[in-house]
Amino acid sequence: MSNCVNTIRVHVDPPYTVTIGSGLLARCGELLRPVLGECRLCVAADSNVAPLYLDTVTESLRSAGYTVSTCLYPAGEAHKNLETLSGILEFLAAEHLTRSDCVVALGGGVCGDMAGFAAGCYLRGIRYVQLPTTLLSAVDSSVGGKTAIDLKAGKNLAGVFLQPAAVLCDTDCLRTLPPEVFADGAAEAIKTGVLSDETLFSLFDADDLTDRLPEIIARCIAFKAKVVEEDELDNGVRRTLNLGHTAGHAIEKCADFRLTHGHAVAIGMVIMARAAEKLGWCTEPSADRIAAMLRRNRLPVSTEFSASELAAAALSDKKRRGDSISVVVPDRIGSCYMKKVSVNDLEAIFRAGLEG
Ligand code: NAD
Repeated sequence: MSNCVNTIRVHVDPPYTVTIGSGLLARCGELLRPVLGECRLCVAADSNVAPLYLDTVTESLRSAGYTVSTCLYPAGEAHKNLETLSGILEFLAAEHLTRSDCVVALGGGVCGDMAGFAAGCYLRGIRYVQLPTTLLSAVDSSVGGKTAIDLKAGKNLAGVFLQPAAVLCDTDCLRTLPPEVFADGAAEAIKTGVLSDETLFSLFDADDLTDRLPEIIARCIAFKAKVVEEDELDNGVRRTLNLGHTAGHAIEKCADFRLTHGHAVAIGMVIMARAAEKLGWCTEPSADRIAAMLRRNRLPVSTEFSASELAAAALSDKKRRGDSISVVVPDRIGSCYMKKVSVNDLEAIFRAGLEG
């Protein structure tokens, strides 16, 4: 892995920097000091990440002069809930963290979402930083300030917008990821390639991505930063990030969440690309190329659920508004657009997308 460090500035209010490179966890104290100044830190990490990286992080923070406490919780989406959030909040209170202190989210998207939410509501909002350890959190969730927990009624239904004070993305962490967790992040990054960047898409055409990861992450973050700068609160252009999500969410629901989000989005992307071709909505066909790239990266491209099952599940989605639904349509690889469609047409769109 290259030693070169890349930084990307996210111009929101207040702005923050995403730093991408090798060996950053061992240097996190010195890197965060100029941003955070004097304060106390609470590092939140799950039961898988803590044994791998917590010591490195706390040692570096302590050598930079910080007083550090650590808050651990069980790994997995099933624990991204009110009970775990409540545990983190009680911990912050028991440790007497003040308004000027900071939460450090060390982990994947679940950690960033949940520790970020805890920071956003503890004392009506304290700072947090993200140290993403999965590819998904590196390329997507660590940037943009969306935090959340799942409720019984659905995923990500409670949360706040709170931008991190800094993001340090140590590419070495990705070496310990289980292959299916790595693949989830690859799906999101390939999605970014389809949305905006054909070069990024092509970077996934390799037997070993290791040397390409810093560039992949930097390209994804640069794109996400641009979108977030334009639409911080997710009312417009940021929704184009949802390529593949209408069908993807429906597949997750129909599968009772046995399928991970990235895997479902991969299938959803192929469905939309195929539908765009069949319905004459795109200037260049892209479904076969997208499907081949996803397969090469150990991702699924088809589902056993029918168009009517998927439409029924999609129409109970929280993002639905009135009689129409917005879908993201791939125009060609590297360019997509939003299209409003009638809810009555959704089943036919899915049917077109499911045909071979
Ligand atoms: P995750 O945080 O649960 O991590 C996946 C698994 O990998 C977990 O078991 C974790 O313990 C383990 N893990 C993490 N880092 C590791 C490492 N370096 N080595 C070995 N194991 C490691 O899940 P995720 O896939 O990172 O993120 C999914 C979550 O992100 C979902 O809850 C989703 O809603 C959320 N998300 C949020 C946003 C956003 O903008 N906030 C965007 C996309 C997804």
